[in-house]
Amino acid sequence: MCGIVGYTGPREAYPVIIKGLKRLEYRGYDSTGVALQNGGLKVYKKKGKVAELEEAVVGTNLHANVGIGHTRWATHGEPSDRNAHPHQSSSGKLAMIHNGIIENYAQLKNELVRKGYTFASDTDTEVLLNFIEEIKSNNECSLEEAVRIALKRVVGAYVILLMDEDEPGTIIAARKGSPLVIGVGKGEHFLGSDASPMLEYTKEVVYVNDYELAIVRPDELILKNLGNEKVTPYIQKLDIDLAAIEKNGYEHFMLKEIFEQPQTIYDCLRGRLDADAGTITMSGIQQYADQIIKANRIVMIACGTSWHAGLVAEYIFEELCRINVEVEYASEFRYRNPVISEGDVIIAISQSGETADTLVAIETAKSKGAIILGVVNAVGSSIARISHGGAYTHAGPEIGVASTKAFTAQLAVLTMIALKIAQIKGSVSNERYMHLLRELNDIPEKVAEVLKTAPAIEKLANKYKDASDFLYLGRGYNFPVALEGALKLKEISYIHAEGYPAAEMKHGPIALVDETLPVVFVATRDAYHEKVVSNMQEIKARKGKVVSVITAGDEHSRDLSDDVMEIPRSG
Ligand code: GLU
Repeated sequence: MCGIVGYTGPREAYPVIIKGLKRLEYRGYDSTGVALQNGGLKVYKKKGKVAELEEAVVGTNLHANVGIGHTRWATHGEPSDRNAHPHQSSSGKLAMIHNGIIENYAQLKNELVRKGYTFASDTDTEVLLNFIEEIKSNNECSLEEAVRIALKRVVGAYVILLMDEDEPGTIIAARKGSPLVIGVGKGEHFLGSDASPMLEYTKEVVYVNDYELAIVRPDELILKNLGNEKVTPYIQKLDIDLAAIEKNGYEHFMLKEIFEQPQTIYDCLRGRLDADAGTITMSGIQQYADQIIKANRIVMIACGTSWHAGLVAEYIFEELCRINVEVEYASEFRYRNPVISEGDVIIAISQSGETADTLVAIETAKSKGAIILGVVNAVGSSIARISHGGAYTHAGPEIGVASTKAFTAQLAVLTMIALKIAQIKGSVSNERYMHLLRELNDIPEKVAEVLKTAPAIEKLANKYKDASDFLYLGRGYNFPVALEGALKLKEISYIHAEGYPAAEMKHGPIALVDETLPVVFVATRDAYHEKVVSNMQEIKARKGKVVSVITAGDEHSRDLSDDVMEIPRSG
């Protein structure tokens, strides 16, 4: 995820681009860059926010009427000046910005290295750019043609904007899987990840579709498909304000991020999980597979929501990999002089990669000889740098204060790691492994199905909003999920909530149950289901209100519950 802006027309391009980038910073903010065309191409880029680039270029002549700009959320290569976009091709004649991931960049890079190319950055973007340049010079064709040929070989998601020194005033744009909007003005065009950079100049916009390529000049917008056939641009009139665009029409960022989950989980699986081939590719894990398999134990270290992801992973790892797992609060672990030996593998889980307690905990463990693996969202963050290996969650920036999409992306990554290790170790049958891969592959679609039930869930929220306490119960995998549910309710609604293993109720807490207490059961159909159903009956006997999350079609649990939320069968 990142923000892209482009401009071609009579105005000064730099201020239009900078202003646009500031509006897009919510999409990513680890580095910023601009390429301007005035005769030759000039690139200015820097690690940090847009304001830091602005400061760095004070006093520079930035006159140009065409340019592109980028605010990055790193996926390949740490945030740094040299990895910031725009990138320039080997000849220096092309400049490009990119939002997305080129999955087969390693293969393309090898081909280019064999032809003598060298690279100035660690990004997938620079690989694609040089691939385009190579095609352009080999075929002696236009940039447009070279982009078309190149994109037929590209696996992954992208929006790209390119400028060519030999084609002044022209921006070539293409998209697949990442957003691109073109604003149509009088004798000028604007490009952006969303419409916010262009809203004050024009309300007429074209939403570019996947597999379309745009040739954009001040007074011309040509849209084509990858087969080089022209497509008529569908111009829409915008009727929304800036704040609504940033939140993609949602009331607040947390809701937006909840609804992003089918995409973020997909992004997390993308390029790693191949359910047909039966493969999981995670180089940052594979290199440590031996150590993981031989580990005395795996210790998951995390805080808050990430700690809950660790607890779910404990069940998954123990079941699939048959390795002893412990899950620790980083804040406790770091202060209690823990016993760590060389055979220990630590998995540090953190959205930001900067969680202070987790950072200190893994530094201590590393100094005692443990292998540290990071499951982190922010590329190049402190935890990612300190770790020996690991895997990024690729959930994009999380702006909402309560973690949502980062949690499910963590679960997706941890599940993939467990499956990978189990397969190498041989602790899971091939049949089950293949089945679980297919199930994991289907998760984004199933999450999308669940999100369609949002209006019904909203009704339930209204019904129970005045309760002063809630209990969340589950068994097995659903126990940590119950803990996470209770945490979310406390954090967001300021209602007291507690998560418990359902079977523990009888050891005391059941005394609290009466007709005023809603009890949320995470009660999907799994190995413990019959036992959870008995726990529901215990609550009903004390007149508690049973609100259950159940597997679609589970009539028995539905009958026992006052209200239900259904999710598709899985696993
Ligand atoms: N994959 C590219 C990079 O890491 C683009 C990331 C983005 O969308 O910001 O530089």
